[in-house]
Amino acid sequence: MREPLADRLRETGHKITGPRRAVLHVLETAGQHVSPAEVLEQGRAIYPALSRATVYRTLDLLVDLGVLRPVCTGARGSQVVFVEGGHHHMICLDCGAVIHFDACAMDDLGQSLAERFGFQVKSHMLEVYGRCEDCQKKMHATAPSPASSSPPRKGG
Ligand SMILES: [Zn+2]
Ligand SMILES: [Zn+2]
Ligand SMILES: [Zn+2]
Repeated sequence: MREPLADRLRETGHKITGPRRAVLHVLETAGQHVSPAEVLEQGRAIYPALSRATVYRTLDLLVDLGVLRPVCTGARGSQVVFVEGGHHHMICLDCGAVIHFDACAMDDLGQSLAERFGFQVKSHMLEVYGRCEDCQKKMHATAPSPASSSPPRKGG
């Protein structure tokens, strides 16, 4: 279970103001990815006077603390994701679909990085790029089948 964000900020000497609490609440109830615009919109439902500047400052602070990481997955523009405990997704280069997965070899890799480099791994982010199942099916549906429909060309 993730540590409450408010605790993280307090531990690092930051005040929890009303607007900031609204931002933290939105983040904690958001899905895997959330954009600053969504944080602002949902945060204003909790704290109507919430400003865009406060949203960006709070997100930046959480990025500095290593809790969040900015990502860009194409169609949705810039977003933030939680990286504590690891974040793994595949991005389809054709349609921009983002698919999350849990399987990860980071436990072993983190161990070997620690041994080789004396590096203490705190979080990680794994992005895999390719083509999703739907897009592969669409390609097969539209492409002429090589055996029947394309007559052999003469010459070359
Ligand atoms: Zn992982
Ligand atoms: Zn993701
Ligand atoms: Zn796709």
